[in-house]
Amino acid sequence: MSAETTYSFFHSVEQSFDKAAKFTTWDSGLLEQIKQCNSVLRMHFPVKVNDKIEVIKAYRVQHSHHKAPCKGGIRYSPEVNLDEVMALAALMTFKCAIVNVPFGGAKGGITIDPKKYTAYDLEKITRRYTAELVKKNFIGPGIDVPAPDYGTGEREMAWIVDTYQSLKPGEIDAAGCVTGKPITQGGVRGRKEATGLGVFFGIREVCNMEDVMKKQGLTVGVVGKRVVVQGLGNVGYHSAKFFREAGSKVIALAEYEGAIFNEDGLNEDEVFQHRKKTGSILNFPGATNLAKSSDALELECDILIPAALENVINGDNAPRVKAKIVGEAANGPCTPEADEEFTRRGILCVPDMYLNAGGVTVSYFEWLKNLSHVRYGRLEKRFAENLNGHILGQIEELSGKTVSKKERDFIMHGPEEQDLVHSGLEETMITATREIMQIWKDNPTIPDMRTAAYVSAINKVAQSYNELGIFP
Ligand code: GLU
Repeated sequence: MSAETTYSFFHSVEQSFDKAAKFTTWDSGLLEQIKQCNSVLRMHFPVKVNDKIEVIKAYRVQHSHHKAPCKGGIRYSPEVNLDEVMALAALMTFKCAIVNVPFGGAKGGITIDPKKYTAYDLEKITRRYTAELVKKNFIGPGIDVPAPDYGTGEREMAWIVDTYQSLKPGEIDAAGCVTGKPITQGGVRGRKEATGLGVFFGIREVCNMEDVMKKQGLTVGVVGKRVVVQGLGNVGYHSAKFFREAGSKVIALAEYEGAIFNEDGLNEDEVFQHRKKTGSILNFPGATNLAKSSDALELECDILIPAALENVINGDNAPRVKAKIVGEAANGPCTPEADEEFTRRGILCVPDMYLNAGGVTVSYFEWLKNLSHVRYGRLEKRFAENLNGHILGQIEELSGKTVSKKERDFIMHGPEEQDLVHSGLEETMITATREIMQIWKDNPTIPDMRTAAYVSAINKVAQSYNELGIFP
């Protein structure tokens, strides 16, 4: 039996959805419409690799059109299959709704192992995939806007925008057909670290809630918290970085070849450099090797951050998880069976579709930048600096005192693009965390935070369907 038949990611999303739907009063037909994937595109296309024709299998799924455009990343992995892409597309709908990003959910995937191809081959595959999306009207700034996901990044997004623009000459908003682009191609400063930073902002907000921390038997705040991160890709790396910078201790890091542990804390960048040099996370100076990568998930810690792939914490290993908080930086790392176990043992699982919404939130900012054709901060930076300088001058004159250089620089500073993007992300994550926690508090029969997050999402999507009016 294949993994696909034993475990259905889409089914587990449906299960979580149904669990939450019971706490809403929406019409059952409307709930069914929200649950289904609206449009599914499955394609096969030929690409010449090493003088041989290879048939590439790929997908794009648009889960919901209650808002336009649809939005979601593109994943390159040998495991990519329709069930997975459908589940991830559905999660995108709920994710966008929770953080008030006005998009429907979508996801794409190509079933390839990107490590087995040269950059030239990957470029051919990506460009052909984009051309297929154009042919089927599955991409465009007002239609469907892809972004990076597992196995893709800025480079692939640059190929996509370039292919799109060459096929749609003169389209003034074409740069908004994809997000996560390099800055030089219309990207926004702050997109790369966005998901990791959003994970940090979300967990920090949870850790600042006195009642929640009391229930978990933890002190308020992130300082001194012992954190384990699984996955040292873009999301895991940046999550670890922001926790460490805020005074938490990253005691273990895991990658697929193994895991390392150091009670005094690890520096993610040093570990990243070590891995780049030696090809493995193992044997990092001062750290202990853990035989199995998955052992890291079972370590005694305050916060466990699975930041790799789905289905890593399930009915089998959830009973051995010792963390007090699990922060789902990846999409779908914990199965519904794991959720049941966490609820039983009082482990707080902060769910993926809101916690990792930082990526799509900043994608939204990038898309807005592309449509407005102006960099964030361009209009107000000088104005703010002149005004701040004037206020400071007045204060110094009236008080007869002068502020230090460090304070002066801080007060004077007018916002740059990255400042505004980070601040917009911080606001988004704090608001979403509070909204979800409030839903949970208002209805204590809701069993877990994931269900509360789904209730928030269902209410918002159903509300906008109601505003649209369902077609006769
Ligand atoms: N792939 C990311 C996610 O799963 C980002 C999607 C986007 O920016 O559209 O949320």
